[in-house]
Amino acid sequence: MIETKIKQTVRDVNDFPKAGIVFKDITPILKDAGLCREIIEALAAQLSELKIDVVAGIESRGFLFGMSLAHLLNVPFVPIRKAGKLPYKTIQQSYDLEYGSATLEVHEDAILPGQRVLIHDDLLATGGTVVAASRLIEQLGAVVEGYSFIIALAFLNGNERLKVFSPNNFALASY
Ligand code: AMP
Repeated sequence: MIETKIKQTVRDVNDFPKAGIVFKDITPILKDAGLCREIIEALAAQLSELKIDVVAGIESRGFLFGMSLAHLLNVPFVPIRKAGKLPYKTIQQSYDLEYGSATLEVHEDAILPGQRVLIHDDLLATGGTVVAASRLIEQLGAVVEGYSFIIALAFLNGNERLKVFSPNNFALASY
């Protein structure tokens, strides 16, 4: 089962990037080509009932599988990046971190009004990052069709914050 394989392969790194955090390191997954293929196919299979026009991946680990997922779904990929990285005209959305805040950006012409967007990231924790990404999608007049993650830290209840944008929230492995 894919969930078991993911959990057996992900590496827990204690106290990274700071004390008290158990970081889910997906780099061992990236070394396993067969598992990567299975993950991409499983992500796509979970979305088979949805009508998706665009996959938006969140910097930086959301790019790793987001681009492959977009290829498999035969739709465009749009990068959502941290402030100051995208070269053309952007729109911004700031969000709170535990200490301070951060800003996400997307190119203003990346997604058309009315397009249905699947937001992908490697991991859902508190949901703050994908809420900010969802607001960017809505600023562009597009629609959040759903979310897909490899891993969800369900005990942090991030999915509750996503329900206001879309009921379609998928993860391959939950803790
Ligand atoms: P959040 O906004 O709290 O849902 O955090 C999600 C973002 O932070 C994703 O881009 C994750 O890659 C990263 N992240 C948060 N917590 C962890 C963790 N325990 N292990 C790995 N990545 C994490």
